[in-house]
Amino acid sequence: MAQHFLLSSKARTLSLASVARMSDEEARAAFQAIRWSDNDGKPHCPKCGCLNVWGCRNRPLWQCKGCDHQFSVTSGTIFANRKLALRDILLAIAIFCNGAKGHSALQLSRDLDCQYKTAFVLAHKIREALADEDKGNTVSGEVEIDGCYVGGYVKPANHKENRRDRRLVKNQNGKRRVVIVMRERQGKTLTFVSKTEDASVPTMRDRIEPGSTVYADEASHWDQLHARYLTKRINHSQAYSADDACTNMAESFFSRLRRAEIGTHHHISGPYLAAYAAEMDWREDNRRISNGEQYLIAVNAAAKHPISAQWKGYWQRRVQKEAAE
Ligand SMILES: [Zn+2]
Repeated sequence: MAQHFLLSSKARTLSLASVARMSDEEARAAFQAIRWSDNDGKPHCPKCGCLNVWGCRNRPLWQCKGCDHQFSVTSGTIFANRKLALRDILLAIAIFCNGAKGHSALQLSRDLDCQYKTAFVLAHKIREALADEDKGNTVSGEVEIDGCYVGGYVKPANHKENRRDRRLVKNQNGKRRVVIVMRERQGKTLTFVSKTEDASVPTMRDRIEPGSTVYADEASHWDQLHARYLTKRINHSQAYSADDACTNMAESFFSRLRRAEIGTHHHISGPYLAAYAAEMDWREDNRRISNGEQYLIAVNAAAKHPISAQWKGYWQRRVQKEAAE
């Protein structure tokens, strides 16, 4: 019997030990080579793009001859103003990539011996950089679509007489969201978050190319897609797959998302749901490449991603906000 790819030695090309053993100097050199790979690893100014830069003598910094801007290997990237050693950041990326169903911030903080808050923001910066892979992308060809409801759990009251019917909208907390997936058979996956499946249809029209064949389940709101696409429906109360109609690829993405939610993070808060969905989408799309390649893709994405508006100074802003209230 053929061996499963993930069990083969080809799937294991990165060892955490080799990253952990890097000196600060080696980690910087590795990041530099990836960040400026378009210029043979030679630095250029992140502010004005000038190629004429000189290195400072005693510090790992460069100065631009054009605009005098002083910069380090991470200036202008998502890891700008870091306090962690670069080696620890690379280690975090390697650990992050190795988790098939994600890696929790608490676990990462234990791995790196850093604060939970540091690990939380670091993991989200990696997620943001990875999400770039799908930015502005559309799907085409044979596309499976489906939605998966996440969050908004209402705990039943202790005593029977106090319990409410949680199926009624008035007894729900309004926090439930649906992750929508559009997945090409033999291709890429796109995700986004919506309030209901019904409300996701306009976005879907934007992101599925005309001429595609759409595979969907029996839910009536998908009828709206018939006017635009050739649509094949599968009624899940009768079969999971009939002729070539099925949404099993979409379901297998949700399987990974559910495992991440329940098994790794235990709870995913609404405002971050899209980030976790995008992470699982990246893992699903890159599941058949070695962990060394995944690590390089992630370091490359982070090195080329600009400073994050959402995650830069995240906790400082939270403290300021709380003080102002
Ligand atoms: Zn410059």
